[in-house]
Amino acid sequence: MYTQFQIPYTFTALEPHIDAQTMETHYTKHHAAYTKNLNDAALKAGVADREIGALLASLSSIPDEALRTAIRNNGGGFYNHNLYFDTLSPNGGGQPQGAFGSVMDKAFGSFSAFQDEISRLAMGRFGSGWAWLSVDRDHNLALSSTANQDNPLMESKGFKPIFGIDVWEHAYYLKYQNRRADYLRALFNVVSWQKVAENYDKIVSGLRAA
Ligand code: MN
Repeated sequence: MYTQFQIPYTFTALEPHIDAQTMETHYTKHHAAYTKNLNDAALKAGVADREIGALLASLSSIPDEALRTAIRNNGGGFYNHNLYFDTLSPNGGGQPQGAFGSVMDKAFGSFSAFQDEISRLAMGRFGSGWAWLSVDRDHNLALSSTANQDNPLMESKGFKPIFGIDVWEHAYYLKYQNRRADYLRALFNVVSWQKVAENYDKIVSGLRAA
């Protein structure tokens, strides 16, 4: 069974950047529904004991097409939002520091170049989807974008996501309406680069299998 990530901050904590109503709806309705629907489908498919990252990286092993699609959409929604909420914090913002800051600078030239590039991917994603910062097979940082609730684990490229930007309208429409660029600018005020750095360290040190 899969358990929804417990947010260690209140729904109002990311105000004014992310409003409380968006946070509450996003977490208690959207994310909760992905989690429930994942569990329902995974139980039927007999895969509810699989580690979620490993499951999403091997969707083709699920023979039933309807269950495979349900697990792709809801398992993606479950995993993606666990990562999203875990990398946001009222104490976030600023730039990555220390060793991970150096890794970012080496990969992208500067933090602001990284911010421009991932924002360009997030703006360019037509309709619903995500923009991603991942670690590739060689432990380099890589940017990408996926549609719907897909994520880099599903693409068999060996990318492991460490930070994702949700660009579904449900992530910003109540406060920003159609102004996705305003949401992206605001979001960077509440990204915990410490958490992203921890995710990076776990992958590079081999502690996280998927
Ligand atoms: Mn979402």
